[in-house]
Amino acid sequence: MKQKRLWYLGFLLLLGALLFVQVPALGAVKQGWVKSNNTWYYYVNGKKRTGRITDPATGKEYYLDKKQNGAMLTGWKRVGKYYYYFGADGAIRHGWQRVNGRMRFFYAKSGAMAANTKINGRTINATGAWLAVIVVDPGHAPAVASGTEPLGPGSLEMKAKDTSGTQGVATGVEEYKLTMDISRQLQAELKRRGYARTYLTHQGKGAISCVQRTQVANAKKADAYLRIHANGSDNQSMTGALAICVTGQNPWVSNSLYTKSKKLSQRVLSAYCSVTGARMERAGDGVWYTDTMTGNNWSQVPCTLIELGYMTNPAEDRKMQTSSYQKRMVQGLANGIDRYFGIASS
Ligand SMILES: [Zn+2]
Repeated sequence: MKQKRLWYLGFLLLLGALLFVQVPALGAVKQGWVKSNNTWYYYVNGKKRTGRITDPATGKEYYLDKKQNGAMLTGWKRVGKYYYYFGADGAIRHGWQRVNGRMRFFYAKSGAMAANTKINGRTINATGAWLAVIVVDPGHAPAVASGTEPLGPGSLEMKAKDTSGTQGVATGVEEYKLTMDISRQLQAELKRRGYARTYLTHQGKGAISCVQRTQVANAKKADAYLRIHANGSDNQSMTGALAICVTGQNPWVSNSLYTKSKKLSQRVLSAYCSVTGARMERAGDGVWYTDTMTGNNWSQVPCTLIELGYMTNPAEDRKMQTSSYQKRMVQGLANGIDRYFGIASS
């Protein structure tokens, strides 16, 4: 009798022990990402991980802060000696990123932020910021610069310093007004995107020649120089946008500068057409390569001239005077600058 009871008690204990071990194993052992109080944690067999980890599912890297009980870091944070950018989703970012309103570089492998150095020829200051310079030239002006100037530095060929530009056939708006409108909006948008050093070549107060405009960009050592124009034709059915760039044989522009201007032209035009839906007027990359533009020939910095659309086409003219389309034009141009610089969108 006594023996039987002991055996029975032993059986119950064993059952209890089995249940104690089995129940959590069946349902509650935490594995992988677990969100608690709006914070993500990562578990392996019920144990919280800390430090740098790679999620085997995605190959992305994360940092789980030991000081915060394994909380996943997000945003722009300092870990040990260096700053890292984890984005909103916590994945460690690499390359050029817009963080806290500044362009910053995060090394490929470590993800650490670069500071006090030069990357891709760009000077990064002690706080890890690259302060890009952008110069925007609003094409034409209310007063037209008279006389001629050399087509390129030292050239004997002379060209008019400026022209009055085209005019909207439906709206009557002059080209200089449209280019100033778009340039001012673009400057504001670029500043909003962290390009604090964005300048216009003039404020539409007086006459200014093509060489003088470009000399502003050269003096500022612009990282990108955008010349804003709109097109005109005797053929009112002509529509679409194009970019104008020097050729690879330009006598005043080095080959490395031509390569940069070409990339700038392509990036800005394709982003512009994709956001606005504007027709790309020319086949291929849509860029007109020519050495007949004084302002492009004098540029010592990456330069493109964008023709926004045809003011001599009644529908395109009207469209370019609506604020909704102007916003898209500006977004497209700014996206093109971001892409030229290789700045990630998030
Ligand atoms: Zn023009």
